[in-house]
Order: sequence, then structure tokens, then C-alpha cells
Amino acid sequence: MDLKLNLDLVSGYKSNSQKARILTQSWIEENMYCPICSSDRLQPTTEGTPTIDFICPDCIEPFQLKSQNHSFGKKIVDAAYQPMVQSIKRGSVPNFFFLHYDATSWEVKNLLSIPRYFFNHSIIEKRKPLSQSARRAGWIGCNILLGNLPDDGKIPIISSSHPLNCQDVRKQWKRFAFLYEIKPEYRGWTVDVISCIRKIPTNTFNLADVYSFEKYLAKLHPNNKNVRP
Ligand SMILES: [Zn+2]
Repeated sequence: MDLKLNLDLVSGYKSNSQKARILTQSWIEENMYCPICSSDRLQPTTEGTPTIDFICPDCIEPFQLKSQNHSFGKKIVDAAYQPMVQSIKRGSVPNFFFLHYDATSWEVKNLLSIPRYFFNHSIIEKRKPLSQSARRAGWIGCNILLGNLPDDGKIPIISSSHPLNCQDVRKQWKRFAFLYEIKPEYRGWTVDVISCIRKIPTNTFNLADVYSFEKYLAKLHPNNKNVRP
């Protein structure tokens, strides 16, 4: 894995955001393997394919790439809110790559992956509509709340300029692949419960420890009247 972005590709471009889009897309194309199957490459989709940037030629899993020039905080700004909510409902959200690059050295610093079965309503935050003076007045975007995801759903591929072993990354992806089998409408509940259990600091826990999250879970799932059972 070569962490340098190929600046030859963008010699004619002035805008840094355009440069970043081309450089990071081509970096994935050149360097990234499929974290799900044994394919050593991912295929870019044709320009304009909404929400999907890459497809694995072997297992046909879809991936979306989001890049930024600063490290990942608790939330990541994403695209439109309503289509995201709809695709979570339908179970058609792609897998995600979050890529952090350095805009001075033009190198990949961190690459984080999130399997699509970890996406649920609890990690999507509705943003304020754009103001009346904006070009797209009234448009509503969303944030992805990384802080609400259990660590099991945030799988690093490159961490502080250090690429992780690809077999270890694939093993991590497999650990929670059983969530694929759960219907999209119930998956969110399962992921949120895992997230709560992961917050318990000890290796063993009892029911009382889990009940301490009752209020939190009730807030995330207002329609669920059976949180405690
Ligand atoms: Zn694959």
C-alpha cells in the first residue's frame, strides 16, 4: 500500500476539493482491496452513480468513499438526510470508507471502514435546513454520528499512517457479519444494544448493567414500548 496520493493526476486543477476527490478516488482504485472477500481490488462505478463509488468485482458489495483533510471526530458531515433515512429503511445503504488525508504532504493518514449492516437511525443526525440565502435554500443534510457506533462497527484499515494487516481487517469484518441476516428494521436495535454493552468497562456483566441503558435506549427507540424486556 503506497500512502502517497498521485499528484500527477491533478496538475491542471486549482480547487483543492476537486483535487482531493480525484486523488482519493484514484488512491482507492490503485490500493484498496475488498475487506469482505478475497478480491485484491475494487472497481470504480461510472461517474454519477449516486451513493456508490466502488463495487467489489467478486462479491458485488457496494462502497461509498468520504474523504476529509482533518481527522475524524464524533461526527462526519454526510449528504442529504431523507435519502439516507430511506436507504436505511430499505437496507440499501452501502459500506463506507472514511479517508483522512493530509493536504500538505498529500498522503493518506487514516482509513476507517464501516460495514453497511452497522448503519441505523441512531447514528444519523438531521442537520438544520440551509438558510434562505443559500443556493440550495431549505436543503437538509445529515451527520453520521461515529460516537454512537460501537467500536466493532468502526474498522480501521490505515491507522496513523500505518496500514493494518489485510487478513486482520477481513476477520474484523466477518465478526459481525451475522447482522446481515437480521432484517433492516431490527438491525438498529441490535447494533444499539451491542453499543451499550461495549460501554460496560468490565469483561463480565449482568442484566442490571444492561438495564442502566434503559433510558438511553428508550430515547433512541421511542416506538419501542418494551425496552426493558
Ligand atoms: Zn469482495
